[in-house]
Amino acid sequence: MEERIDRMDIKELSDGIVYLVGAGPGDPGLLTLRARSLIETCDVLVYDHLANKRLHDWAPADCERIDVGKSPGRHTMDQSDIGKILVEKAQSGLRVVRLKGGDPFVFGRCAEEMISLDDAGVSYEIVPGVTAALACAAYAGIPLSHRDFGSSISFLTGHEDVAKESLRVDFSKFSEVGGTLCIYMGMSKMEEIVGKLLTGGLSGERPAAVVCCGTLPGQRKVLAPLGELVERAKQEKLGAPAIIFVGNSIGLARTSTWFERKPLMGRRLVLTRSAGQTSRMRSTLENLGAEVLDLPLIRIQASEDRKLIAEVFAGIATYEWVVFTSANGAREFMKFFFRAFSDIRSFGPMRIACVGNATAEVLQSYQLHVELIAKDATAEGLAKELVATDSLDSANVLVVTGNRNREIMVDVLENIGRAIVDALPVYETDFTDVLDAPDVTSFQEAGADAIIFTSSATALSYVEQSEDIVLQKEARVPVLCSFGPQTTQTLQENDLEVAVQSAHPSIDGLVDALIHYFTPS
Ligand code: SAH
Repeated sequence: MEERIDRMDIKELSDGIVYLVGAGPGDPGLLTLRARSLIETCDVLVYDHLANKRLHDWAPADCERIDVGKSPGRHTMDQSDIGKILVEKAQSGLRVVRLKGGDPFVFGRCAEEMISLDDAGVSYEIVPGVTAALACAAYAGIPLSHRDFGSSISFLTGHEDVAKESLRVDFSKFSEVGGTLCIYMGMSKMEEIVGKLLTGGLSGERPAAVVCCGTLPGQRKVLAPLGELVERAKQEKLGAPAIIFVGNSIGLARTSTWFERKPLMGRRLVLTRSAGQTSRMRSTLENLGAEVLDLPLIRIQASEDRKLIAEVFAGIATYEWVVFTSANGAREFMKFFFRAFSDIRSFGPMRIACVGNATAEVLQSYQLHVELIAKDATAEGLAKELVATDSLDSANVLVVTGNRNREIMVDVLENIGRAIVDALPVYETDFTDVLDAPDVTSFQEAGADAIIFTSSATALSYVEQSEDIVLQKEARVPVLCSFGPQTTQTLQENDLEVAVQSAHPSIDGLVDALIHYFTPS
């Protein structure tokens, strides 16, 4: 709320403005603080494929997003049309952030946009960013200067535009310049560029490197003498976006760095849980080097049976146990609770049981003591452990659940434990259409290393829709990874083979299982 008020204040105080913001080379951690706060408060976000789309998550939900992208092979939006959009939006009083990959002024066509804004009398600011050459060098352990080996650094470009054929820079002349050369946009003309450097007089022994997808989970590099660089880059199938480095200080490069040694480096992992539930899992996996794709197979919505909720809360003091079968259920329940009561003491003295640690954490965050956490983290396991407490006979038990998989729990509690059970559904799980998923095209094109199923519902949705997801011929075929025994069982019951299984449904368990599978020691 406070954030919203800030935004409105800022808007009232100012006319429209455009921020030309350096979005860095890929890793969102490399943006400046200023860039982040501008993205978080903008009205319009203008971007292309060069800026990491994860940055869009920082923008306010109601901000207008405009893709002016120029992906290869796609009709390119004219620079002057981009200028027009920026001018138009600012003139209607909006705060516009134009994301530019790397640094706006380094081969970023920012000059054109700046001139359009000046011509129209629109205010603008420019926020520098980490340019690709510096970022690739750092993350790949390649020094660009050394007091004995390299005293100048040049930034060059292979071609300014994919459509333009000829090289603009006379690379043979740069053989004489020496120092360190950082060549942007050089991959499609690499052979020609290297040839010119060699015929211009650079030795084939001069250290060189190519880093592609720098700072991203797919970062890869080749270190080789200039004379062998083209061949090696071809062998390793390095492609754009990449920087070519040439110079004596490149000879000091490390063969592998902290970044390249991350245990899930380069792995493409697919998350299937509902949108809005993935952030912690995503950031954990990304920090370990994985590229994470979103293929939400289920949608979770709060379900609010007001009459039932009122009845449950009216009699809340009569329950001896409250049982939570998911973290999501616990969160929704607490929301309803605080709508009905303003004081946590209204919760009463009942005992609390949870299906697993993630669910328990939600309740513990309110300083509520959780009496029982199921050891095998399944609804059935939880029901059996509750029966084993010998406290259910004629006891009132409230089971807080979703719309799926509650029958077995209620059945065990009532028929074996002889409890009097009220079930309170607080959310509903539906299957989504997989073809609407944000990363479905990328998944179909390049595949993935693993699909992670976090619940039986995600597994069942996959079973229903797997035929709709046709992978292209070259795509990596993913293995199936399950978050815990119950999900594994559902996959196996549907004749699907589970290659990776988390010992228990928790992010730590999942990470251990993935690392163990992908980097066996
Ligand atoms: N303004 C940008 C450069 C835009 S030109 C900057 O300052 O970085 C686009 C070129 O940048 C690509 O062809 C490639 O040479 C380089 N580039 C951008 N991101 C990159 C990355 N993550 N890894 C390697 N090179 C990258």
